[in-house]
Order: sequence, then C-alpha cells, then structure tokens
Amino acid sequence: MSDELLTRLRHFHSDYFPRHQQRFQDLVAQGQHPKTLFIGCSDSRLVPYLLTGAGPGELFIVRNVGAFVPPYDGSHGLHGTTAAIEFAVLSLEVERIVVCGHSHCGAIRACYEGAPQEAVNLQAWLKLADEAVLPVCACPEALRRTEQRAVVLQLERLMGYPMVRRRVESGQLTLHGWHYVIEDGEIHVFDAQQGGFLAAADAPHAGTGPYRHYVEHDGQVLCD
Ligand SMILES: [Zn+2]
Repeated sequence: MSDELLTRLRHFHSDYFPRHQQRFQDLVAQGQHPKTLFIGCSDSRLVPYLLTGAGPGELFIVRNVGAFVPPYDGSHGLHGTTAAIEFAVLSLEVERIVVCGHSHCGAIRACYEGAPQEAVNLQAWLKLADEAVLPVCACPEALRRTEQRAVVLQLERLMGYPMVRRRVESGQLTLHGWHYVIEDGEIHVFDAQQGGFLAAADAPHAGTGPYRHYVEHDGQVLCD
C-alpha cells in the first residue's frame, strides 16, 4: 500500500517549496507579522487560505470545533483558543480578528442533536453555543440561523477579553464575523449596522463596520 501522505510531503518539498523558497526564508529572517487572527471551525471543508487568497505568514490561525471563543475569565485554565487570542493580540498585534463559521456545521447540529455519550469534553465545549441555539427543531433554516448567531456570540465574547476591547475601542483592532456557505462558495459577512449577514458580493466591507485601509505585506490593499 502506498503512503499517500508521505508522497504529498515529498511533493511539497520538491515542487511547492522551490517556487516559494524566498518567501519562507524572509519569514524566518524577519519573523512572522500576520495582521489577521483567523478563528475558524475545524471542519475540513473550510479552507482559510483558499477563501482569503492568503499565503504563508498572513494568517495566524486557531481552529476548534464550531469556531467557538471561550469566555475570558482569567482562570488560567488550559484554554488553547484563549491563549492563541492573547498571543495574537498582545504579541503579534494583529489588526483584525475573523471568526468564521460555516454551513452544515456538525458542531451546531450537535448542539441540537447531542454528542456521543463518551465525548464528555465535546459536550462541555458545545455549551459555548448554548445562547445561539433556538427553541425550535433542527430544520435547515434553524441550523443556518444558529450558525450565524453563534458567530455573533463569539464576537461578543471577544469583546470580553480586556486586550481585545481596549484595541477595538481605540481603533487598532477590528472584529469580523463570517459565515461560509460551502455549497455556494461564498462568505457572508456580519454587518453590525444592518444587524445581519450580507453576501460578500453585496457587502460594502469585510466585517462589522467601516474600516481603515488594510494593507498586506506585499502592499496589496485588501479592504477599503
Ligand atoms: Zn463546523
């Protein structure tokens, strides 16, 4: 039986890396300075680099089941997502945080239908979306709305992080809620002014409000 994964590792080294070698070496010499913290669901169909056209060094990514943000409680627990948020904001000084949920999210469905009995950690984790769950059956419309409500809920939780709130209020950091519709290949962005999600094709900006110019490392302006 061939080892497909090993073949792919060799392909990366022999094919992709030589064409992008300089970029990787610059990122080592100069360190990483990503401007975006991307908090996304672990779902394999959500591919942040494809959606944003980003390359190495551009996204600081933390992913978990559901793209959930634990509340900031200062309890010094083993919260990987919390630690990543603190590092991205305080050390990397990112300029934007994206929370990206998606259609057909298994985490959101499990909020209605339950998780395996043995998955005690998963059951506890899913409670982070409790406030987004609607008192109705898990029909497709309810699931879609819950996926979007969960994204907004995480943005609200982010504002409970003192270092996030400080920077948002001083204009150094912007928060963006996205809902990725897999079957349409389109991101819907949360618009705080309109109080809803707009398809990226119709949205005036990539998040919750008017933003400053966002310039990537190569000088490309991604959002104005
Ligand atoms: Zn998901």
